[in-house]
Amino acid sequence: MTDLDTFRLETRAWLEANCPPGARGPGPVSNGSTKIKITDRDTLTWLERMVEKGWTVPNWPKAYGGGGLAKDEYVVLLEEMRRIHARPALSSFGTSMIGPTLLEFGTEAQKLRHLPRIARAEVEWCQGYSEPGSGSDLASLRTRAEDNGDHFVINGSKIWTSGAHHADWMFCLVRTDPEAPKQKGISFVLLPMDQPGITIKPIRLLSGESPFNQVFLDNATASKDDLVGRLNEGWTVGKRLLQHERSGMESLVAGGAGSASESLVNEARKAFGVSGGKVADATFRQRLLGYEMHHAAYRLSQRRAVQESDGGTPGAVTSIFKVVGSELQQMHHDLQLEMRGPEGYTIGDADVKQWLFHRAASIYSGSNEVQRNILAKRVLGLPD
Ligand SMILES: Cc1cc2nc3c(=O)[nH]c(=O)nc-3n(C[C@H](O)[C@H](O)[C@H](O)COP(=O)(O)OP(=O)(O)OC[C@H]3O[C@@H](n4cnc5c(N)ncnc54)[C@H](O)[C@@H]3O)c2cc1C
Repeated sequence: MTDLDTFRLETRAWLEANCPPGARGPGPVSNGSTKIKITDRDTLTWLERMVEKGWTVPNWPKAYGGGGLAKDEYVVLLEEMRRIHARPALSSFGTSMIGPTLLEFGTEAQKLRHLPRIARAEVEWCQGYSEPGSGSDLASLRTRAEDNGDHFVINGSKIWTSGAHHADWMFCLVRTDPEAPKQKGISFVLLPMDQPGITIKPIRLLSGESPFNQVFLDNATASKDDLVGRLNEGWTVGKRLLQHERSGMESLVAGGAGSASESLVNEARKAFGVSGGKVADATFRQRLLGYEMHHAAYRLSQRRAVQESDGGTPGAVTSIFKVVGSELQQMHHDLQLEMRGPEGYTIGDADVKQWLFHRAASIYSGSNEVQRNILAKRVLGLPD
C-alpha cells in the first residue's frame, strides 16, 4: 500500500467520523464574514473541525493555518469529500483569491496577519477592482491613493463589488502615480471596510436581490503595511489574483473526480422516463451526451494544466477555464430548465434564480470576450 493509499484510508475514516449528517448535501457554507451568522449546528461543527485540521485551506502551509497537504493529498481529500457529499466548510474570496495572492506576493508579516484569519473563517473580503467606466479596460481605473506618512488616503468609487455589504476587508486596485502610463501607476492595497471613509450603496437587481454594491471611498485609509507588492507595481499582483479567481483552483485540482451531469441525468430520467435503460427522449439524450463530453474534455484539460504548472495556479491559460467553465455552467442550467418545461420558468423559483445568476458568469471575473483576447495574445501568441 502506498503512502497515498494510507492517507486515503485515514482521510475517509476521519471524514466519516467528523462530517456531521447536516454538512452533507446542499446547505449553508461559511464565507468567513463576521456579519453573517450561521445558525445551523452541523454546519458550524463541521467548520470548527475543518479549521482545527487546517482543511479549510488544505494546501496552504501549516504556519498560516493550512493543512500543509501535497497536491496529490489535496486531490484525495476532495475526492473523499465528494464521495460522502460533504460541503466545503469554508468558501470565500479569502480562500480563493486574496489568500493565494498573499502566499505569492505578501511579506511574511502580511501573511501572518491575514492568512490565519482567512483559514479560521474569521474574515471575508471583497474585490475593489471595477469602477464606473473601468470594467474590461480595468487599467484605466481612477480611484486615487495619496501618500500620507504611514498610510494612504483613498478617494474614488468601486462598482459591482460583490458582497461588500458583508465583507470585513477589501483588496483594492488604486492609482498611486497618475502621470505614469496606465498599467504602471497602479498599486494593490488592503483596507478594512468598517471605517468612516467608506459608504456602501446596494445595487438592486430585477429579482429584488442586491448581491453587489457601489462602494464610495471618501478619504478612506489603507495602512502602508498593507501595500501588497511594490508601489506602482500593483497591476502584476492584481492580474495574478484574477488568474487565481479564474482558475477555480479547487475544482481544478480535483479535476476528474465525479460527474457533473449525474444529477442532470437523474432529473432527465424523471422528466422523460427511461427506455432500454436510457433517457427516453433521444434528442435530449444527445444534448446531455454533448454536455457530458464537453465536461469530460474540460476536466482533462484542467488536469493537464495543473500538472504542467506543477500543482500551482496556471497563468494566462486560466482564461480557458473561465470561458469554458462559465459556458458549461450556463449549458447545465439551460438543460435543467428546459427539461422542466413551461412550469420551470416561474419567477422566484430557486432553479430560475440559479439560471439567471449563471447568465452573469460570462461577465464577472472579466468578460468572456476579454478572456478570448487574452488567450489570443498570451496563449496563442497572435499579433495585436
Ligand atoms: C455578478 C457580477 C459580479 C461582479 N463582482 C465584481 C466584484 O466583486 N468586484 C469587481 O471589481 N467587479 C465585479 N464585477 C464586474 C465585472 O468584473 C465587470 O462587469 C466586467 O469586467 C465587465 O466590465 P463592464 O461591466 O464595465 O463592461 P464593459 O467593459 O463596458 O464591456 C461591455 C461589453 O463589451 C465587451 N468588450 C469590452 N472590451 C472589449 C474588448 N477589448 N474586446 C472585445 N469585447 C470587449 C465586453 O465583453 C462586454 O460584453 C462583477 C460583475 C458581475 C456581473
